[in-house]
Amino acid sequence: MKKRIVIAVITAGFLLVAVAVAVFTFGPGLVESRMNRVRAAAKPAPSDVSRAFHSTLFVADLHADTLLWNRNLLIESGRGHVDIPRLAAGNVALQMFTVVTQTPRNMNYNNNASSTDNVTLLAMLQCWPPATWSSRLERALYQARRLHDAADNSGGTLSLIESQEDFSTFMERRKTQPRDVGCLLGIEGLHCLEGSLENVDVLFSAGFRMMGPAHFFDNEVGGSAHGVEKRGLSEFGLQVVRRMEECHIVIDLAHASPKLIDDILRVATHPVICSHTGVKGTCDNGRNLSDDHLRRIAQSGGLIGIGYWDSAVCGNDVASIVAAIRYAVNVAGVDHIALGSDFDGAVTTPFDASGVVTITDGLLAAGVAEEDIAKIMGENVQRFFMQALPPA
Ligand SMILES: [Zn+2]
Repeated sequence: MKKRIVIAVITAGFLLVAVAVAVFTFGPGLVESRMNRVRAAAKPAPSDVSRAFHSTLFVADLHADTLLWNRNLLIESGRGHVDIPRLAAGNVALQMFTVVTQTPRNMNYNNNASSTDNVTLLAMLQCWPPATWSSRLERALYQARRLHDAADNSGGTLSLIESQEDFSTFMERRKTQPRDVGCLLGIEGLHCLEGSLENVDVLFSAGFRMMGPAHFFDNEVGGSAHGVEKRGLSEFGLQVVRRMEECHIVIDLAHASPKLIDDILRVATHPVICSHTGVKGTCDNGRNLSDDHLRRIAQSGGLIGIGYWDSAVCGNDVASIVAAIRYAVNVAGVDHIALGSDFDGAVTTPFDASGVVTITDGLLAAGVAEEDIAKIMGENVQRFFMQALPPA
């Protein structure tokens, strides 16, 4: 009898371990496969003319959440949207990698409190260091470290750009190594400051050069477009904005409440970005930018990155992305429009990083001038960061 109980306990133990191994091994991959999808092609492949023109462009993207997922950036994956081989295949020269440190349960566009969090479980499942399980700052720093490591291990194919000098070195290198990729670090939501102004400097030291004050919920800095109160900039937020500008960290208005956008546009003395968004003019919802905000971001000397996902452009096809880009160009001017995919940000897109040529193709088909396409696809981003980054 005793022996049978012992055997049963050992068997149950093995089963438990097997289940745990399976959950930790396959769980995160399954979650990502479900969240970051590519919609099957709905359109004929881009023409040879489009491909040839696209290969001459400097292409840049202002937003991808790839660092949230435990994939080796240097190896092509069948999951998600972005890795270095796919960026190279898509002729993408510059990718902003943004970090996410807390997402509310049942995340939605209209009303989210800060009391719940999905990233805690994801961090545990992906075996991130224990310090990241409870600290949002540590989550940001850990994701930054992973990008530094990827660049260090890339043999030069991936360069992390932290200054104007880095950017010039990268541009020089790319003349002989046209498949090399540059990247920048950004943040979604300054709840990861954990209420401390000094942490702006900590994040700057870790390489972050663009930060969005709010993500899906209101925080100490200001209100989110998807928050409960959707408030403006707090007194603490004003100090954060001032310190960011002193450090040459760009302010990203994506996900900010309209009130917070107004407040920041009033106090900012540097150009601001809205890294991934849609426009109310083609897709009216609480998060997309109004014509007034489009114009004022442009007046600041800033950039608007148009996203590729359904609720940004009210469609899941290239035509909807092209329509949003053309609308934004008409309102804000062609020097202020860029790409902001939101790749790997729990969205479904019509293509992954290797297929960005589809946008070039769509813009050419819509009759947009080649010179303007070059600006939208990346020249604007190149010009912007060559001025906005710290000199060295
Ligand atoms: Zn986002």
